[in-house]
Amino acid sequence: MILNNALLLLLLVLAVAAGWTLGRNGLRMDIADRSQLPSQYYRGFNFLLDGEEEDAVDAFTEALAVNEETLDTHIALGSVLRKRGEVDRAIRIHQNLLKRPQLSAVQLHQVHLELARDFIAAGLHDRAEQLLVDLAAQSTEFMATAQRHLLDVYEAQRDWQSAEDIAAQLISRADAEGLSATGHGQPVEQLRCHYLCEQAELALERSEDALALSYYEEALRDQPQDLRAHLGIARWQLAQGDAPRALEHFDIVMGSGRSCTPELLELLRDICSAHSDSRLYLSSLERYYELQHSPLLALALAAELSRLEGREPADDFLRGSLEKYPSVSIAASLALTALRAESTGPELEVLERLLSDDEGYQCDHCGFTGRARHWRCPGCRHWDSIHYRGGALERLNA
Ligand SMILES: [Zn+2]
Repeated sequence: MILNNALLLLLLVLAVAAGWTLGRNGLRMDIADRSQLPSQYYRGFNFLLDGEEEDAVDAFTEALAVNEETLDTHIALGSVLRKRGEVDRAIRIHQNLLKRPQLSAVQLHQVHLELARDFIAAGLHDRAEQLLVDLAAQSTEFMATAQRHLLDVYEAQRDWQSAEDIAAQLISRADAEGLSATGHGQPVEQLRCHYLCEQAELALERSEDALALSYYEEALRDQPQDLRAHLGIARWQLAQGDAPRALEHFDIVMGSGRSCTPELLELLRDICSAHSDSRLYLSSLERYYELQHSPLLALALAAELSRLEGREPADDFLRGSLEKYPSVSIAASLALTALRAESTGPELEVLERLLSDDEGYQCDHCGFTGRARHWRCPGCRHWDSIHYRGGALERLNA
């Protein structure tokens, strides 16, 4: 932080000095500011000599005249302060810029956008929303950027309906222009899908089942393979007593290449136990294991084999699997079976605990780890970026 402050001060001193020199050489400048330059400049140095770095930064910032040549410097300075968490000072800089009469409409819009970013960083979402709504209405240049930030505001407020409306506008405008709606960040189509799933889950909480289903189905419009929407519909169909239709949606999830997780296995078990075919869980696991040779599926398959046909075929299956696809958790499971026959010691308990720990989720984007899936990462706020990395033993392979 000390180095950052020193660097910031050096840049400011140079920027003010350069601006003042240019001004003396006749470039167009704000006359009122030019007359104030020297006193604020020296005031800044006084603060610096007294060791008051924060006041020095403020004084140099005030000394830096606002005009076409220095606007970017002010905006960059505000942005640096915002990223350092000094949001109040960033807001002050950007609000001061708005008082300058000589800014063009585009420059004013640019400052509005920066101020909205400051308000979002400060958690002042209402104020950010107002600025961004106005900006989206008034500026064709900044409309898409303002709307992307509006998505951040509505997400923070959990206003999923408004977020979905804005996402739909971004998508339809991009479609009309033959462009991608991706812009910065995640694809808007993916975001809209999650906003609809959020609304579906709220509808389910209110027992508005038909409305919930319509949200899920709408979510699949732009994302036909989406895991969350298909899982939602599978659970919905199961709750309505239609296990075959629930399994159809589960099949789409497994066919889409997404890794199996403990929560998926639990849903599959629930769907199959609601079905009339008593071997459906086993045959489904065999089918999915053909698609992905995950240790989680192999162990679930072995457990079901053991339940239906006995321990021996289950162990044979695991040994065959281990030969083709080496896995610490499958080896430990086999060792545990042998151990159980001859011991009840603490080593058995430790191994059993390790094998039952199957809660290893991690965000691909920021590395956040957790014991459950979040559709939006609590660390980086990305959607659907948290994936299952396997149980405690399986993670030893990585
Ligand atoms: Zn993350």
